Parts: sequence; C-alpha cells; structure tokens
Amino acid sequence: MACIEARGLRKAYGATVALDGIDLRVETGRILGLIGPNGAGKTTALNAILGLTDYQGELKVLGRDPWRERDDLMADVCFIADVAVLPRWIRVDQALDYVAGVHPRFDRAKAESLLAKTTIKRTSRVRELSKGMVTQLHLALIMTIDAKLLVLDEPTLGLDILYRKSFYDSLLNDYFDHSRTIIVTTHQVEEVQHILTDLMFLNRGRIVLDCSMEAFEQRYTEVMTPPEHAAEARTLGPIQERQVFGRSLFLFDGADRARLAALGEVRTPSIADLFVAVIGADQAQKAAA
Ligand code: ATP
Repeated sequence: MACIEARGLRKAYGATVALDGIDLRVETGRILGLIGPNGAGKTTALNAILGLTDYQGELKVLGRDPWRERDDLMADVCFIADVAVLPRWIRVDQALDYVAGVHPRFDRAKAESLLAKTTIKRTSRVRELSKGMVTQLHLALIMTIDAKLLVLDEPTLGLDILYRKSFYDSLLNDYFDHSRTIIVTTHQVEEVQHILTDLMFLNRGRIVLDCSMEAFEQRYTEVMTPPEHAAEARTLGPIQERQVFGRSLFLFDGADRARLAALGEVRTPSIADLFVAVIGADQAQKAAA
C-alpha cells in the first residue's frame, strides 16, 4: 500500500516555484531519503505532506488529503522540523507532561528511558540546554510516539557525531518496523546511506533521481582507472569523470560491471558522489538553457 502518493504536486510562492509538479509514491514500510541542495523544495514537500501548506495537484498521505484532513492525519503522523519549537522556558518534565497530554500514542516511560541515556536533567529548562541537547530532547519526545509516518527534516542538525550515529542506529533498531514509513531530509547523506531503503534527489523543485537502494547499487558503478585505460572508459559514456591522484575516477549509470572491472578498480559510489554528479549535471543543463 502507498503511504504517500502525489501527482503533479506544485507549490509556488509568488514567482518562486518551490515544487514544480512532482509525482511520487512511497510505499508503507520504506525509509526514504529526500536529498537536495539548499532551496530545492524539500521542506516545502514535507510541509505539503504534513498538511502545513496548501498546494496544487493531487496528494494523499495514509489515504487522506493532508490539507483538508490534517487533524485526522496528525493522529498517525509525527515530525521533527529543522527549527526547534520547544519554548525556552519549559522544563524537561513539563515537556514530557505536555506531549503525554496532547498525543494519545506517546509512550512516556520509553521517552524517560531515552532521556536517561543523555546528560539532560528532568528539572532543566530548555534555555539551559545546549543546541544538541535540545535536539536530543526533541527526538526523545518524537521517537516515542507510535506513529505510522515519521517525517524528519534535518533531524540531527546541531548534534555531535556520536549522537548523530546513535540517533540513526536507534531509529533503525528501536523505532522502525515494517508497518511504519519514514521520510528523512539531511545534508549529511553519508550518515543515512546505510539506513535508507529508497533515495530521491530533488533539485529546483523537480525530482531528478528516484530509486530504491537495491536499484542504486545495481545501476551505479564507479571505476578508478590508470591513465592507459581512461580513453576506453570514456567511450562507455560515464556520467562523470574526476581526477584523483593521477588516476581517473568515472561514474557510470547502468554500465556492465564485468566490462568496467577490466579497466580498473570497481565499486558502488557513495550517495554523496552520485549527488554531486546528478545535481551538477542538472545545474549545468540549467546554465546552458
Ligand atoms: P534547505 O535545504 O535550504 O532547507 P529546502 O530544499 O528545504 O532547502 P524549501 O525550504 O522547500 O527548500 O524552499 C524551496 C524554495 O521555496 C526556495 O526558493 C525558498 O526560497 C522558497 N520558499 C520556501 N518557503 C517560502 C515562503 N514561506 N515564502 C516564500 N518563499 C518560500
């Protein structure tokens, strides 16, 4: 079943087109990484999915129209935005009370056990916490809500490396099961590569890549060639070529791995490498136009 389905989803702010008619389908039980440069339209897409902005085109989330049925939808959805929304005066235990009061699917005991793993005190006020601690608190409140769809917009902004890693590990091990769906946006793509089931690149309000991680691993290949094999690699139509320590590094879409292996060392690219190639090509196309 599709958790999210959009057709021709469009949003413009005056002359700025934030979403330029996108089609997407996210099945239940998937973890989608929505990746794009600044201003690509990621937050706008998430806001439409959460019913926080109106839009043109068709959109269904968990079978509902998010703009018209937001209240219903919110019982099954939770999200963390890139802006901390917790008031600065609130105490940690008051924040727990508040979420317990407003969300019927909040598991307070679980939230407290997550907080016990941090250095956050129950009596601290939000204004006394560091930026990363505020995010930790926010995550403890959100990840303990039993939701069908979890929307994470830059969830690890301001967190240190240790906590970022443990956040994604616990998201996968303690939170995720195949009845839930997660959408995450981040600029730190290398940190989410191992948890995603699906990958989507957005640029200038349009989807420029949409594939499962299995398809990603089959489709894309990187090969590092010594100078004598570079010319032959070029004839196979790479989507990108870079120079690394006197060798050429080529990125291919859909090339024959066995054939590439004869030219040099073959591996699957990182999401970050593919992102640079795909978005770079899209920007170059725009510049040419
Ligand atoms: P970032 O990675 O920088 O957070 P993003 O991919 O989330 O970027 P959006 O916030 O969706 O990008 O913005 C897409 C475009 O829409 C940008 O050009 C932005 O300036 C514009 N935009 C977003 N919100 C508004 C608004 N409320 N009013 C006017 N323009 C807006």
